[in-house]
Amino acid sequence: MTETPVDLLVIGGGITGAAIARDAALRGLSVGLVGKGDFAGGTSSHSSRLIHGGLRYLEHRDFGLVFEASRERRVLLNIAPHLVRPLPFVFPAYRGARVPGWQIFAALWLYDLLASFRNVHTHKWLSRKAARRMEPGLREKGLTGAGLYWDAQTDDARLTLANLRAAAIAGAQVANYVEVTALSKPDGTVKGVTVRDQLTGEAASIQGKVVVNATGPWVDGLRRLDDPNTPALLRPTKGVHVVVPRARIGHTNAITLLSPVDGRVMFVLPWGEVSYIGTTDTDDSVSPDEVRATADDVVYLLRSANALFPQARLAPKDVISTWAGLRPLLAPEKSATPAQVSREHRIVVSASGLLTIAGGKLTTHRVMGRDVVDRACEILHQADGRAVPARAATDHLVLPGGDIADLEVMVESARARDIQEPTARHLVKTYGSESAALVNLIERDRALGRPILEGRPEVWAEVIHAVEREMAMRLSDVLIRRTHLFYEDPAHGSAAAPPVARRMAELLGWDRTAETEEIADYLSEVQRAREFMTGVARASRVS
Ligand SMILES: Cc1cc2nc3c(=O)[nH]c(=O)nc-3n(C[C@H](O)[C@H](O)[C@H](O)COP(=O)(O)OP(=O)(O)OC[C@H]3O[C@@H](n4cnc5c(N)ncnc54)[C@H](O)[C@@H]3O)c2cc1C
Repeated sequence: MTETPVDLLVIGGGITGAAIARDAALRGLSVGLVGKGDFAGGTSSHSSRLIHGGLRYLEHRDFGLVFEASRERRVLLNIAPHLVRPLPFVFPAYRGARVPGWQIFAALWLYDLLASFRNVHTHKWLSRKAARRMEPGLREKGLTGAGLYWDAQTDDARLTLANLRAAAIAGAQVANYVEVTALSKPDGTVKGVTVRDQLTGEAASIQGKVVVNATGPWVDGLRRLDDPNTPALLRPTKGVHVVVPRARIGHTNAITLLSPVDGRVMFVLPWGEVSYIGTTDTDDSVSPDEVRATADDVVYLLRSANALFPQARLAPKDVISTWAGLRPLLAPEKSATPAQVSREHRIVVSASGLLTIAGGKLTTHRVMGRDVVDRACEILHQADGRAVPARAATDHLVLPGGDIADLEVMVESARARDIQEPTARHLVKTYGSESAALVNLIERDRALGRPILEGRPEVWAEVIHAVEREMAMRLSDVLIRRTHLFYEDPAHGSAAAPPVARRMAELLGWDRTAETEEIADYLSEVQRAREFMTGVARASRVS
């Protein structure tokens, strides 16, 4: 990237930057992408992991957004069936609740209508009895019925990675741990950037004919490198999730609920053996590098879930892990509550030509990428007269791992090669058709088929794959984003840290000091994720 100027230089390795790089590379542009941390290390690994039309946006009459997001849900179910999976939701109605049953009933009709009745299935209305039969743990008192509707769930970090790998396969050059520290403007227009390699400390410059700022919640910081006086585009809001053992709640479907604390829409979402509850939505001026769950966030989420599932009796000590992110939302023109701030996106070009994309959602990333590349192609056409390339078929071209008609067939084929069922299922769900590469690794060395942590489905072949095929550079990349041991193991995968670091040291040539530092850094990350516990004693009792 430092050797030859690229047509398009993307700053930001989250879902937005990844989608831009994929789209541009597929249109034949030369593309470079840099991210200052790991790919998806920002908001794109801290979302609710939903690919959804956004039922709750109906309250704010964001019909255009729901229409677009519903269409994207359908596209993503097709192009990444291993990563975007249909998920049934139960939305219970209670007497006296902020949103009455008839309104939920009407909203679900509208939701299906805005999806042109092409959602996974159309919704159903359940009687009180049928709702209890479906989710016996739901609070009985005041329950009048429930809506059953469909959205989809994804692995946000791996969806980002899939977009980046698609971009790289189409010719883009991508690099994690490369931070942009300055913009280069030799004649007043942005012509490139100065970067620092976060792993070696080395500085370098990269030239790009068009430079795109796709840094999510960091967008305004980057814009101020261009013009220190530029007004803020964003009004970020903080969102927190807590992970608890699924058996404690005992739910089967995803649950949409109205928090009894403040009436906000929240979710209890199933994820294998665990459930995650979220999200909060609060204005927060914290830096995106420092955002964490606080004791208040945790207590609020648990209290809301306990009110709907009285038998769960969740307390902070039951929390396996938490995650927190900043939504890079557009600043509204008039005053609005955090939940009312629009999820739409906007593209702005500064006087010096820096192209910024702000706002948006995980669900609409493909459209965001397309819109940015449309704009970049116009700028390139004006600059050097080149023809504007046709749009790429990003809505039809499958993402890596997505060329799979039937996941069960892949599971069977892995089973036929002596892979145990839980591992086979886990590999196919995580890697889709690319699970074949992991099965090959295991066939060559059966030790790679052993679990990284006893009793869990992740196997050693995934560590090799993460380093060799997915650019994992640090221990946390493997334990937090390539696998999710950090979130799903009650000890945050701490026991796996030393042996995984050993293996990575062999693969990446770390010396003993580097290996020890990696383990220490990971363990401090674990400690930060538990910080909320110190504040819990002070916070109000959870009931
Ligand atoms: C709690 C929460 C729940 C959400 N749930 C959903 C959901 O269920 N469904 C949905 O559709 N959307 C959801 N969203 C929204 C969605 O997650 C975000 O819109 C999306 O992830 C933003 O992606 P991004 O790439 O723009 O930003 P990010 O993922 O934050 O990526 C920006 C990247 O820029 C990099 N960067 C920053 N500064 C520099 C620099 N100087 N040099 C180089 N790189 C830099 C960072 O390292 C970072 O990786 C949720 C958001 C939150 C916070």
